[in-house]
Amino acid sequence: MRSQALITILALAAAALIAGGHAVAAQAPLAGTAGAPARGAAAGPPRPSIVSKPIPFGTKRKREMAAYARRHYGIDSHLLRRPRVIVEHYTVNDSVQATFNTFAPDVADPELHELPGVCAHFVIGRDGHIHQFVSLKLMCRHTVGLNHTSIGIEHVGRSDRDVLGNARQLRASLELTAWLRCRYEIGSGNVIGHSESLSSPYHRERVARLRTQTHGDFKKQSMDVYRRKLRARPCS
Ligand SMILES: [Zn+2]
Repeated sequence: MRSQALITILALAAAALIAGGHAVAAQAPLAGTAGAPARGAAAGPPRPSIVSKPIPFGTKRKREMAAYARRHYGIDSHLLRRPRVIVEHYTVNDSVQATFNTFAPDVADPELHELPGVCAHFVIGRDGHIHQFVSLKLMCRHTVGLNHTSIGIEHVGRSDRDVLGNARQLRASLELTAWLRCRYEIGSGNVIGHSESLSSPYHRERVARLRTQTHGDFKKQSMDVYRRKLRARPCS
């Protein structure tokens, strides 16, 4: 039986190679995963293709992020432990590179004058390419009151309409957000536009002067359209 099983495994590996499979495909039957879905056991939408383009996030920035989390949320950590919200933004610029150049330097932001520098976990270009700037394990400063528990997604564009009217960009955004929200079990109601931050049940801000601070990107009206499209991509 043992030798028969070995022959079967070798035959499967050979078949994968003949079928044009590369080394990974040939290894799959040997690893005992033949027939398993490509993305593993987890249900839900597949992970879209993501270009890794990390901004510098070294010890100094992490320490500053932890100090920020302590001041604003009473949390003594720079780690994003269990994201409960996804916040959609648009950049008000014209490229992924310009967005990278804004987020990469760890300098105080011109609006609130705080450290670490502002950032977002992802940015989606007008061509529909998804870039990841920051690890999902790290908190990132993109939305006052929600940085402790949210993933930030930027879209290159100058208005809600700009992004919603760009089929490639919108499709990439929905693919990314659907994958993330299913992976972290985030309800579609907690996928919000930055402008909706104050009404999030997860909003929390210890600094009194910032309790009503928000931005105008992605209005409720646009997010209602977005959420409807997102619900058409269910988690199971
Ligand atoms: Zn924003």
